[in-house]
Amino acid sequence: MDLATDQAAASVDGIDVALVSMPYAAVQRPSIALGQLKAALSQDGLRAKAFYPNLLFLDFVGMETHRLFEKVRTEDLLADWLFSGAAFPDFETDHAHYLKRLMARNRGLTKDHEAEALTARFMELRKQIPDFVDWAADKVLAARPAIVGATSTFQQHVAALALLRRIKERAPEVVTMLGGANCETVMGRTTHRAFPWVDYVVSGEADGFIAKLCRGVLRDGADLPAADMPHGTFGPAHRVQGYPRAANGDGLPRATTQDMSSVPLPDYDDYFQAHADSLYRKHIRPGLPIETARGCWWGMKQHCTFCGLNGGGMAFRAKPEAQVLDEIDALVARYGIRNLEAVDNILDANYLKTLLPTLADTKRGLNLFYETKANLKPAELRQLVAAGVNWIQPGIESLHSDVLKLMRKGVTAWNNVRLLRLCRQYGLRVSWSLLTEFPGEDDAWYGEMAAWIPWLSHLQPGGIAALRFDRYSPYFNEAARYDLDLTPSELYSYVYPLPPAELADQAYFFEDRGTNDHGRSLLHANATERQGLGAAMDAMRDWVRAWRDGSVPILTMREEEDALVVEDTRPCAVASKHRLVGTAKRLLEAGEETPPRSRLLAELARDGVFENETEEALAELVERRLLLEVDGRVLTLPLRDPVPPLPLLADFPGGYFFRHPQEDALISVAS
Ligand code: SF4
Repeated sequence: MDLATDQAAASVDGIDVALVSMPYAAVQRPSIALGQLKAALSQDGLRAKAFYPNLLFLDFVGMETHRLFEKVRTEDLLADWLFSGAAFPDFETDHAHYLKRLMARNRGLTKDHEAEALTARFMELRKQIPDFVDWAADKVLAARPAIVGATSTFQQHVAALALLRRIKERAPEVVTMLGGANCETVMGRTTHRAFPWVDYVVSGEADGFIAKLCRGVLRDGADLPAADMPHGTFGPAHRVQGYPRAANGDGLPRATTQDMSSVPLPDYDDYFQAHADSLYRKHIRPGLPIETARGCWWGMKQHCTFCGLNGGGMAFRAKPEAQVLDEIDALVARYGIRNLEAVDNILDANYLKTLLPTLADTKRGLNLFYETKANLKPAELRQLVAAGVNWIQPGIESLHSDVLKLMRKGVTAWNNVRLLRLCRQYGLRVSWSLLTEFPGEDDAWYGEMAAWIPWLSHLQPGGIAALRFDRYSPYFNEAARYDLDLTPSELYSYVYPLPPAELADQAYFFEDRGTNDHGRSLLHANATERQGLGAAMDAMRDWVRAWRDGSVPILTMREEEDALVVEDTRPCAVASKHRLVGTAKRLLEAGEETPPRSRLLAELARDGVFENETEEALAELVERRLLLEVDGRVLTLPLRDPVPPLPLLADFPGGYFFRHPQEDALISVAS
């Protein structure tokens, strides 16, 4: 390939490739996809620059409006709806009805008496979006790119389509590209077929061939022969000749990078320039995304029934330890930031023996985030903490083993409660949510959970959310097996000007026709019909409220001579202090290891404690709500005093967006 000839095809004095992150995407961190693609292009000698209109959008709408997007569930498509007027100007739909449904699905968005004002605000904003898209297009076109490629994940799709359309209208010679999770397989093919201003769509992971593809496009423009397009690319030639097929999945190709060591270190320079230019820079403390693995080793064994996260890329692939260490050091040195968010879907179990001990030994002073399995053992959690991991998302999705079995999660309720206790004990912050309304679940299970959820109020609370049916999940792929009749979320029809069959191929979020109100949305409506679910929701809300009000309940224990002294300020406490001796003390100590009940009884019997004495002591501890019996296991609830402080919300390794710049100081003092 002749570099000089290629670059002659680029705009005179312009760049070869502009990479764009449109709203809505978090402003407190750069896009790892754009960082990696820019690095891959630069390594190949191409001139690339990343643009962050998602940061410009914050300047455009102001902070209060921007924060509304954080309150709306991704599946309710607010950003997509806002940008659909700019992407599809001839598309007529009932906007008032969309907003009515949005408010009904997101009761937290506004109190009823504000709904009218909020509706007017959204309608007004929708009218202003074409100006924003023009503004973003001006910024991109000012660099005179030969190619403009946008990344699209969750709510970025329509905004990306709007930008690429405007780019094509204003500079028809520019070649447009789209990639990201929203372009996987049939969704990418549908986007490509329906929206002719997008020249190329990449389904899957583009880092392995983006430079080759762009070189081909710089040479041939929109005329790149189908044979020269890398696997997973849909191009103009396919609109004429027909789209390629693949043997796996839904029959459409997807590119997968097999060798993770070939993925380049991301280049985030352009994000930090955009951040420095933002009106709200003082409100944003950036974190750095890192990627150490792709796919999911658990999903390869047993795909969680609700999970569509990995698309066609479930095969687990991890970077070698040495490469991860080098990348961490290079990012920290370049950007002076030690907050690193791993975007991996699951921590590589081997890293517990390799990467994490090295990080612990070398004391790099990092704040790391990882998604993990929930059955981590105490020593493994201590290993995480020693390595600098201060925040995890362990996939706790229920506190009832029968629900966890339905979702094929591979863990039980006792694993999850133990993990919550240990994380609080070690000062490790946890993000988690109780998912509800699984096909085949029994309402009584929620009643059982609700009975003891208040006992956990000294541990970190989670959210509560209704199950979604996502494309690529087993619920989607095998809907009939679960007696589901899935249809795209009703809200897509207010966003895309597509006929139903095309809409079904474009959508990622689905709903079951068989459930009330198109299903998954109105959790509170279902709760009024289900006593157990209602009780569990109340218990979860009380838990969150207890933490929000700043008076986090305490349940601690400490040795005092021959006794264990327990202090209890939980709302469910039966006494504020307990002094435990003898068998009760022994049980509380043994329960820290969460043993099976039968084993515990046998152990005490071996030591000469009569079974009825052990049973009585167990019952007494349960009555005092100091010990929980779940799944035949005995779990001690009090934490060992002292309990280390938890990282604050503002310490999230993936960055933080402050409401007030002075909040920074307040949080520093508080910490
Ligand atoms: S939910 Fe998590 S553990 Fe389960 S398949 Fe998806 S990524 Fe893997």
